[in-house]
Amino acid sequence: MHHRYYGTVHWEEQRKSYRLWDQRWTNRDVCGIIENSSYHWCLGCLDDNEGVHLEGHGIDLAIYLDCAATTPIEPQVQQEIMHYLGVEFGNAGSRTHDYGIRARRAVEKARGQVSRVVSARRSEVIFTSGATESNNLAILGLASHGLQVGKTHIVSTQIEHKSVLEPLQTLARRGFTVTLVAPNHGGWVEPRIVREALRDDTLLVSVMQINNETGVRQPIGEIAQLLDDHDAYFHVDAAQGFGKEFRPLCNRRMDLISISGHKIHGPKGIGALITRRRKNRRLPLTPLMHGGGQEFGLRPGTLPVHLIVGLGKAAELALEGWERRTQRYREFRNRLIHALHPLTPVLHGDQNRTVPHIMNLSFPGIDAEEAMEALRDVVAISDGSTCTSASGTCSHVLSAMRLTDAQLDGALRLSWCHMTEEPDWAAFVEIIEQLRKETSDPLTAKDADQPTVAERSVVPFTSLADVKYENIPG
Ligand code: PMP
Repeated sequence: MHHRYYGTVHWEEQRKSYRLWDQRWTNRDVCGIIENSSYHWCLGCLDDNEGVHLEGHGIDLAIYLDCAATTPIEPQVQQEIMHYLGVEFGNAGSRTHDYGIRARRAVEKARGQVSRVVSARRSEVIFTSGATESNNLAILGLASHGLQVGKTHIVSTQIEHKSVLEPLQTLARRGFTVTLVAPNHGGWVEPRIVREALRDDTLLVSVMQINNETGVRQPIGEIAQLLDDHDAYFHVDAAQGFGKEFRPLCNRRMDLISISGHKIHGPKGIGALITRRRKNRRLPLTPLMHGGGQEFGLRPGTLPVHLIVGLGKAAELALEGWERRTQRYREFRNRLIHALHPLTPVLHGDQNRTVPHIMNLSFPGIDAEEAMEALRDVVAISDGSTCTSASGTCSHVLSAMRLTDAQLDGALRLSWCHMTEEPDWAAFVEIIEQLRKETSDPLTAKDADQPTVAERSVVPFTSLADVKYENIPG
């Protein structure tokens, strides 16, 4: 017999809903969120015996402050996904029955929802598995054309995501010349330097919209303007900005835009490459895979309808809720700055250009790894961007910004969203203060023989070290 439980979890109590959410994967009692209105979530449970357990069964997790890595899913998005996963499961390529026709319709609706966010045409949206694939398709996909027309120079930046830098490395191995522009100390590339790097044989300019480690906006609008009299293709990795900062991406000089579902409260494993037509002609992209001809021949394979629908819904909600969400980011940021003020943090990156939901900072005298470990029960924050003693390397982004060794060693990334609950800031401050005391106490201080970051040799592009790049200082 199925029992059903409806419980409203209020915003202040939202943590409970997360516990239940997690319980879904650990305890089959809770089967999902069945309804929601903005801050009141109803939770449904199909359970043979016991009903739902509001307390005591969940995983007690720290407050999630790593939304630049991935975001929690919007309940409405999950609902849509479950529907197309379970009920309307047809193949969007089947034309002979309603299962397929309805699936195709759902895909086309999602294409429209995504295209609206960047003012593109529906036919300019190519669904991929995420921003990594979109970046690869944009960069590697233009290579054949470049070779054909004798354009083998590419301009990009030192602070791109690895899913841009590594395809560039591949092309450099195939004979392309790649110019990587350095950022300034504030973490953004100067448009003038990008312009100066252009050559007659420049095929592509690739600059990200928002840096994932620092949250610093790159001047993509100004770069687009400077490219007006050059026919190089302009690619923007908008994984961190799509659905959050709209206007810059509506510029039709941006030929290619990479986006990702899981950064906007959608599912993982889905994204898109926006491929804007030029003079009504499709871009000369070559697919990376070959097969069924789906997605205008650029990305073959049976379409994951449920993920596409999820991305579409997430894009629609992002567009609708943009102002409210941004307001929440700002309010959270203000409270964070106020709460952490006693710790005298150093904020990395030009704060006039930083988005209101990502912050890269260090607490003088505090090592990032130690801080993350000590804060583990209070907040979940990123270590992906900081120096790791295991690998002996530092973030290529922060290194390119020429942060001091102490800042590199102490860099932490905090990122949040409109669903983020308030951490226990007092506990946060106390833990860091305690760490400071221990570090300054000679009896408990870290072994003085530990190598400093400088001694560990800061190698910005470890995996790219074998490629000769032409680095332009910013
Ligand atoms: N580019 C940037 C700037 C990113 O932040 C990310 C995700 N960390 C990616 C690309 C890759 O996105 P996906 O996870 O969708 O492959």
